[in-house]
Amino acid sequence: MKPNQFELSSSNLNLYPHSLVSQNGVEYGLVQKDGKHLLAILSPPDSTKLSAFEGQTSQLSGKTLILASLSSQNAAALRSRLAWLNPCPLGLSTSIGMGDRLGLATPGHVRAVSSAQGQIAPIFAQQSMRENMRTGRTPQQVMDDATWGIFQEGWQNRVGADADHLKTFQDIDICLNAGFTFFTIDPGSFVENKTETASLSELNELADQLPLDHQPDTSGLLNKVFDLEGLTVQIDEVTLKKAAVKYGNAVANVVSMYHHLSKSTGDRPFELEVSVDETEQPTSHAEHIYIASELKRLGVRWISLAPRYIGTFEKGVDYIGDLAAFENDIAGHAAIARHFGPYKLSLHSGSDKFSIYPAVMNHTRGLVHLKTAGTSYLEALRTIATLDVEFCSEIYNFSRHHYENDKASYHVSAQLSRAPLPKNVNDWPGLLEQFDAREIFHVTFGSVLTQKTSSGGWEFYDRFMDILRKNPEVYAANLEKHFNRHLQPFLPEE
Ligand SMILES: [Zn+2]
Repeated sequence: MKPNQFELSSSNLNLYPHSLVSQNGVEYGLVQKDGKHLLAILSPPDSTKLSAFEGQTSQLSGKTLILASLSSQNAAALRSRLAWLNPCPLGLSTSIGMGDRLGLATPGHVRAVSSAQGQIAPIFAQQSMRENMRTGRTPQQVMDDATWGIFQEGWQNRVGADADHLKTFQDIDICLNAGFTFFTIDPGSFVENKTETASLSELNELADQLPLDHQPDTSGLLNKVFDLEGLTVQIDEVTLKKAAVKYGNAVANVVSMYHHLSKSTGDRPFELEVSVDETEQPTSHAEHIYIASELKRLGVRWISLAPRYIGTFEKGVDYIGDLAAFENDIAGHAAIARHFGPYKLSLHSGSDKFSIYPAVMNHTRGLVHLKTAGTSYLEALRTIATLDVEFCSEIYNFSRHHYENDKASYHVSAQLSRAPLPKNVNDWPGLLEQFDAREIFHVTFGSVLTQKTSSGGWEFYDRFMDILRKNPEVYAANLEKHFNRHLQPFLPEE
């Protein structure tokens, strides 16, 4: 239906035209009013099925008009009416995770995946517990913000929802309640990083401490030789012992998280990602084989795995390392993923890694999940840099002061001394392209968004959000442009 065929269009409401949809005789649309968004619902006068929505009721040409706030209750009610707003598993489709720390990025994300013609399946709701803690948001808010963005832009294809970097049963329960369908289990704290430097006797000692079911011998991998599409991997005794010591407890943790998840979901479909991307040492091909073979033996089903690849994946900047070596590395991981799955390889800290995307696409043959989050915050800053230089410089000053502290849990190498001093910056949007400034901005999002003034108000948050809310088209256009660059390399060849 064209927008003008909707009865809602005859109202004086300022509607987002793509949001308009009619379902079982009821029309829905997103309205902009005084810088705020409202949900409009127009239904036959005697409709009682809409009692789940809370809002103001009035009459419009003999029908009932409800104007409802974008509350969590109304988001849930809308998801129960419009099935496509509900996340679902994406299976082996090439996919991209577009984390959004502000809750305003989904419209721009939708436009980017729309221009990829539905060839890449999106995840719009995606935050880790760490990100939620830093921004003061809950998984339910993340889910609801994505719902409203999807609805605004009229996206009716599949969407996933990634509960990222989960470490506890409680994390799982909260995200399951909020409607997430993609669960990224992060057993990183169970990975033993000493194996590269340990002596044989230390290795033996550590192996003896592994749970009975995770002893090297139990794996059945001893002296096996894998010949995978030209990649030969031999699992000798020391290799196996190292793999088991390094990843045995992590595998055990994934197994227990998986059991908890499958028990809690009942017959609700879900998919699992295993991520060991945040460890000190890269995951060797033999270790990948160990992890996959063990997870399989222990009955875990997973859709994607994020090894720690060789080279450096810093936040928000391109790959750092030897491209040829990376290509060998990903080729092996991809062959292993095809052999033991097939499952997808996941690329965490995946934003802005433009130099490796072609190799990733080529070797995974599209069995890939690209995960991004902070880069959308950087596009918000780019938006602010074009609209309010003064405010942008305030944020930059603050971020510089907080960088040394905030960088602790992130993989970044930016140095304050290499980032331009605020007084020397002439081109503020251009500052977003400077390596050090980019990382400084990237890791300080939590401090910027939650800093309070001495009187208890927000130092930046209100103004930050206000600029983006008043200029949604500028933010969406920046996101669309930036994400088109990410999506292009992952489109299947014609
Ligand atoms: Zn990660």
